[in-house]
Amino acid sequence: MKAVIVDKPGSVRVDSVPDPEVGPDNVLIRVKASGICGTDIHIIDGEFPPTVYPIIPGHEFGGEVVEVGGNVAGVAAGDRVGVDPTLSCGTCFFCQRGQGNICERWNGVGVGSHPGGFAEYVSVPARTVYPLPASMNFATAALIEPVSCVVRGFHRLRPKVGDTYLIYGAGPMGLLNAQLAPFNGASFRALSDINQSRLERARDAFDITVTGASFADVREHAPRGFDHVIEATGVTNVAERAIEAVIRCGNLLLFGVCPPGETAAYDAFKVYNEEITILGTMAVLNSYGPAIDVLKAGAIDAAAMVTHTFDLDDFPEAVATVRAGSGMKVQVVPDGA
Ligand SMILES: [Zn+2]
Ligand SMILES: [Zn+2]
Repeated sequence: MKAVIVDKPGSVRVDSVPDPEVGPDNVLIRVKASGICGTDIHIIDGEFPPTVYPIIPGHEFGGEVVEVGGNVAGVAAGDRVGVDPTLSCGTCFFCQRGQGNICERWNGVGVGSHPGGFAEYVSVPARTVYPLPASMNFATAALIEPVSCVVRGFHRLRPKVGDTYLIYGAGPMGLLNAQLAPFNGASFRALSDINQSRLERARDAFDITVTGASFADVREHAPRGFDHVIEATGVTNVAERAIEAVIRCGNLLLFGVCPPGETAAYDAFKVYNEEITILGTMAVLNSYGPAIDVLKAGAIDAAAMVTHTFDLDDFPEAVATVRAGSGMKVQVVPDGA
């Protein structure tokens, strides 16, 4: 089959590789749409520590089951499915506490050591496979994984009806967070970015209130601050300053992936005195199924999110489009899928 292979950081090729083995507990899927994520860029650049090279990347995809292993029940050839890429070990301390997203031997389809979805076929454990609603197309199915990360973030926030939100970062993850806020009862949400064209796109395509990055711009919308401030840029400096926009007794959610080892400094007195909660959220935990449900219910404008589609052969061009920031979600559709 044809697949994208990252041999080592900086070395990407589209090539022929042997078709994956199904295995007794696995499901073989013909990939129909596969989204490019910031993590894929980090994998290509050698900036994602869990990755074992060479790897076929791709962890946001949907497709059609073509074969199932001998031990597999409940999934059959012809099923349209999405895949929760989390491959937790099931036996470590945290897995046994039901927290597979922070597994001590954490692995993921397309991000750790398991081949992913920028390929014509992918073999995954049957336990990771979810059936798609009949109404959901494959482009939307490839959005389930990023939405499930956002759902996990909202599970961490435990929002109340009427709460206000500020989201830093008008990239795909910021846009998904901003769209899910009203679905969680937000009375107001605003999106902040330094990139004016991204803000205009967010406003025009999704009718989201947008604001410049300066603190004065942000405070204009909520003089006392916001109940939930979601950092979705992955820039440590933004993660540090974002606390200034949190209302007393509010939450700061660190959603973006900041470079490991960088430090954000907070005024400890302010956190104590204003009862501020700083939260992390890591990938997917019991949130893939709910992500399917909220997508089915129309929480996300999936058609507006996917701005570019490329063939597998054009993967380098697809990556360049992501790097340029000129699109929102960029997807790869294997030839003939
Ligand atoms: Zn991702
Ligand atoms: Zn584990």
